[in-house]
Amino acid sequence: MFSCILLPICDNGHWILMVVSLSERIVRVYDSLRGDHQKYFCHWLFFICLRNKASVEKLENWQFVRGCSSKQEDGNNCGTFVIMNAEAIIKNIPTLVMRQAHCETYRKYVTKRLLMEGKRRNEETCDIVESCSGPHKKWIQCDCCGKWLHMKCAQVKKVDPSYVCVFCCALYK
Ligand SMILES: [Zn+2]
Ligand SMILES: [Zn+2]
Repeated sequence: MFSCILLPICDNGHWILMVVSLSERIVRVYDSLRGDHQKYFCHWLFFICLRNKASVEKLENWQFVRGCSSKQEDGNNCGTFVIMNAEAIIKNIPTLVMRQAHCETYRKYVTKRLLMEGKRRNEETCDIVESCSGPHKKWIQCDCCGKWLHMKCAQVKKVDPSYVCVFCCALYK
């Protein structure tokens, strides 16, 4: 279903990123302060153990690897490193490319993207482009892929924070 799962973790006020590769059966923890996070691997194994009991699909032989994150040199950019590392992983580029020197520009870049997303919602058509009957006022976001759809086009009556769109239903059923 998914190739990897990204799990941001707040470890005593410090943000780190756990990445589970389902195909490799590897759990990587990216920490910009290079701490030891075996305990989260243990949490993962515990979760998998319960899951294996409940499911016919057995996911076994897990391995823990310390992910390569650039080192954070200040006291407030751990969250920035989490997002930079996550974006590098999704785009399949080396995580070490993003460094402390990029944090400030990266923060602005994220802000801009979030604001653009807000602006997009004022546009007329939604992400069901071909059959969109917009403009409509009410929107809903897919909890899985983040697409914004008109509630009318998606044929949704009630706001639902765990709504999954038609595209994701088709992909992941
Ligand atoms: Zn629409
Ligand atoms: Zn979706």
